[in-house]
Parts: sequence; C-alpha cells; structure tokens
Amino acid sequence: MTGEIKRTVTTLADGRELIYFDETDDACRTGSDDRVLPPPPAASELRHDPLLDEWVAIAAHRQTRTHLPPAAECPLCPSRAGHLGEIPAPDYDVAVFENRFPSFSHRGEQVPPTMLPEFVPSRPGTGRCEVVCFTSSHDTSFAGLTSRRVRTVMEAWADRTAELSGLPGVEQVFCFENRGEEIGVTLHHPHGQIYGYPFVTPRTRRMLASARSYAESNDGADLFAAVLAAEQSGERVVAANAHWTAFVPAFARWPFEVHLYPHRKVADLAALSDAERAAFGPVYLDVLRRLDGLFGVPMPYVSGWQQAPVRIDRHLAYLHLQLFTPRRAPGRLKYLAGSEAAMGVFINDVRPEDAARMLREVSV
Ligand SMILES: [Zn+2]
Repeated sequence: MTGEIKRTVTTLADGRELIYFDETDDACRTGSDDRVLPPPPAASELRHDPLLDEWVAIAAHRQTRTHLPPAAECPLCPSRAGHLGEIPAPDYDVAVFENRFPSFSHRGEQVPPTMLPEFVPSRPGTGRCEVVCFTSSHDTSFAGLTSRRVRTVMEAWADRTAELSGLPGVEQVFCFENRGEEIGVTLHHPHGQIYGYPFVTPRTRRMLASARSYAESNDGADLFAAVLAAEQSGERVVAANAHWTAFVPAFARWPFEVHLYPHRKVADLAALSDAERAAFGPVYLDVLRRLDGLFGVPMPYVSGWQQAPVRIDRHLAYLHLQLFTPRRAPGRLKYLAGSEAAMGVFINDVRPEDAARMLREVSV
C-alpha cells in the first residue's frame, strides 16, 4: 500500500517546501503559487533557563500570525479563483508545508544576539516547523477521516520524521495535533503540526531518564513495555486491536487522557511496519469518536507522538501517542492554574478508571 501513495515536492512563492501525499497516481501537481509573499521571518532565539535546565524559544514574529480567519479566507483550503491559500491546487489528499510563522526555522535571517547574563546562553532557533493538512474538507475533523486517509497521514508523518531527522541540528521530531479553540487553535481546518526541535525536549529527557533507571534496577527491562503489559488486560483499556492498545494510564494527569502504544517496541513512526501503520487508524478513530461522543460536543484535545530523539538514547525510547483533553465535564474546562502551571503538580478531578469506563460506554 505504501507504493500507492504518490509523493510530490514543490516550492511556495517564498521558497518554503510543500509536499503532497496523494492516494491516486494520476494526481497532477503542477499548479504554481502565484502569491506575492514577504520573505520568511527572522529565526527565533533560544535562551537557556539555568534554573530548570530547559530552552525557551523567543519567537516574537508569531504575534502577527493568522488568527481564526472566516472560512472563506482559510489558508489551508484548496486555492480557487479569488482565493489563493497555502496550497496552490484545486484539491488535495494530504499536504505538508513549512509553517509561514515558524517557531524554529533555518530560513529567516538570524537575530543579532542580545546582551544576556553569562549564565543564560542563547543561540538561533534553527529547526523546522511544518503544517500537515489532513484533508481538503474544511468542515470535518480527524475523527471524521476514513481509515484509508489516516493511513496516508501516517505515511506523511513517517516520511517527515525520517526527513527532518536528517536535517542538520534537528534533535527530535514531534508530530502533533491541537484541536479546538479551547486549546488555542487559530485555524479550524483539520490540520496538525510537526516540529523539528534543535534539542531533546524536557519531557522526553525525563521519560528516558526514568526508562534508564528502570532498566538499571530491573535487569535491563523496558519501562514502557512494562506499562503497556500492565495496562493491556486491565480496566483502563479504551480500545485495542492486534497491533495497538489505547488506555487511560493509571497515573493520568488530565481528566480524559489516553495513551496509544504499538505492541512492538519501535523508536519512531518511520520504523512501523506496513501492518502496524494500517492498524493504527481503526483504533485511533475509535478513541477520537468516543471522546467526541462523551459529552455530545466536539472534544478539544492535544494529541502528540512521543518519538525517540534523533541522535541519543534511541534504544530507550518506545514510540507511542499521548492524547488529552482539558474538558472535565460539559461546558467545564480544566485550566492549568497555580499548582499545575506554577509547580508542575497536576490535580486530576476524574479517576482514571472512571474515565476509561466512561469512554468505553460511549456508543460509536
Ligand atoms: Zn479550510
């Protein structure tokens, strides 16, 4: 099936790359981007927080990015007479392009360094940020895609993971989707993003440090595999098939949080087999439809792939997806307030066992 997807690389008016992933061989991708666009913005600036040992990206240019435009001006819809968007084609299946307002980039000019205290190292925010359009239909959602389309999205994710991993300076690739205005989404068209970070993210560093100490005290055993094995037959499973299991982890911090693991340990999306790629859609769509069905209104969520860093600790990592919603009840959101935002201590209002049961009971 991989061979059935046609991949075409083109260039937008300001030099950014656009890649089509088409489900049919006869897709014609010769349309050119006729817009007049300003040059890419200056790169962001990375500053190191010496207190937390974490990088912060300062990307002031993002203040001007497109914010909730009316549907007729959606930049992710196919282009037509009178409306030229980011995708210069009358239709498409899956399209990926470099973000016009990137948090990390190797294109824009470098900002002159600011005078900072010597214990706050800074460097240019090089890297790459891409947008993934899941469908040309404006008024749907990921949950509304077919399994076939999810398979195509997976091919795009795997392709971009492999490609971005090969770029100079990229240390980790993160494929994710923010859904819903409650999460801060600025465009309604179904889309996700891919970040090629110029460092290993703090969350991944901590998870891999935990995996390392677990292996050291358990004869080399794998922490992620142990979590999956413990959950697989238990009361917190939400959905499963021969290759994947989705469950609410016993230690969930969000009211409704689901982790989705392949049964075979792999480092990243590019390492999944054809059978595993094909089997992901049915389980993931089932989870998303349960979330949407839970309160009878589209559920806001953040869904992201935990992948191995590009260069280090790859043997410790176990690819999996983590998804959560801040909605804890109809019309009620969980906000990251004092304890969560200031101290990193989550107070979860819903027992993970109840969350799993509620999701299983949704009829889809
Ligand atoms: Zn649109």
